[in-house]
Amino acid sequence: MPPLGRTQVSAALRALRAELAGGPHADLGAEVSELAALLLERELRRFTTVRDPAEQELLSSLPDAAAVVAKDGRVKVCNAAFDALAAGGRAAGMTPLEVTRSAELADAVKRALEGTARRLDLELPRRSFSVQLTPLLRGEVLLLLRDTTEERRSAATKRDFVANASHELRTPVAAIRGAAETLLSGALEQPEAARGFVEIVHRQAERLARLTQDLLDLSRLESRQWRFEVAPVDLEALARMALELHGPAAQKKGLALRASVPPGLLALGDGRALEQVVVNLVDNAVKYTAAGSVTVGAERHGEDVRLTVADTGPGIEPHHLARLFERFYRVDPGRAREAGGTGLGLAIAKHLVQGMGGEITVRSGAEGTRFDVRLPAA
Ligand code: ADP
Repeated sequence: MPPLGRTQVSAALRALRAELAGGPHADLGAEVSELAALLLERELRRFTTVRDPAEQELLSSLPDAAAVVAKDGRVKVCNAAFDALAAGGRAAGMTPLEVTRSAELADAVKRALEGTARRLDLELPRRSFSVQLTPLLRGEVLLLLRDTTEERRSAATKRDFVANASHELRTPVAAIRGAAETLLSGALEQPEAARGFVEIVHRQAERLARLTQDLLDLSRLESRQWRFEVAPVDLEALARMALELHGPAAQKKGLALRASVPPGLLALGDGRALEQVVVNLVDNAVKYTAAGSVTVGAERHGEDVRLTVADTGPGIEPHHLARLFERFYRVDPGRAREAGGTGLGLAIAKHLVQGMGGEITVRSGAEGTRFDVRLPAA
């Protein structure tokens, strides 16, 4: 192609001026047209890369992932949160489909580019988003993605909790109702049988009382209505209390219940809360150990004290350990319920220890299970 001559340029200029003044469509020729297109693109690029700092700040300070999608369906500009969604960490120039791999979103963007605002819930493999698509002037679309992963997870946990709690409450209620009905329909007249049914009512009512108390405790802890009164707690006295309380149950099973706490060792915590933690741990240890011993120990570790409840029970398989402190999580649901457990003891213990600024951990193997409670020393 010959170089663009001055006369060609002058002719094109004249024709364009005439067209803009109301004349016929100017035919500029291939080269001048290309020149015009390149100039236009350069202007557009300048417009999209060198942005108003205030606009840039607005985008980057949005807590949501935000992007402007241009007419061609590609991301023209976006903030860091949106960039982070793209596999390579940069979303500019990509289509929303390439960034999120969601055909549903791609379809919504297409419709928003045609002028329809929309909101939709987007489920990606590991995260959930609430998406808002707003058509802008110049035929572009503003895409806002609010991360709702945590919200959804906590809503699901709440739903599960209500379902679990109802299920737990239903069992003793059904047993009490059944026993009462049997008594009313004749068993009351047979003293031996009657005693058995009244015992069932009593046992199940006790279970209901434990459950409702645990549920109340948990709800107070989770809504932060539990007031911790932190003061020095004598760990030797605490261990003695546990021994007295659980001694009879341990003796009945032929278990040795021991304490090994140096005199004068003090933890900084809430006495009542710590008592409840130790009672829960020793109760479990005695409940789940068939033979051998349960030991309550404590020792100083630098600035902290470590309180330990160890048993020689069957141990807990490693894959259960991570979930052991969850509400209603049980290794062997049938056996644990039979043993009278509510499934909330460890969840409550964890909340109590954390509320006192400490940490509770568990280790388990063939030789038994051991819970460690770390608290600041007094
Ligand atoms: P539960 O009221 O069922 O005992 P917890 O929250 O106290 O509920 O304990 C949760 C589960 O952890 C129990 O059901 C049991 O399976 C397991 N577990 C707790 N402590 C021990 C232990 N010392 N040895 C074996 N399993 C235990």
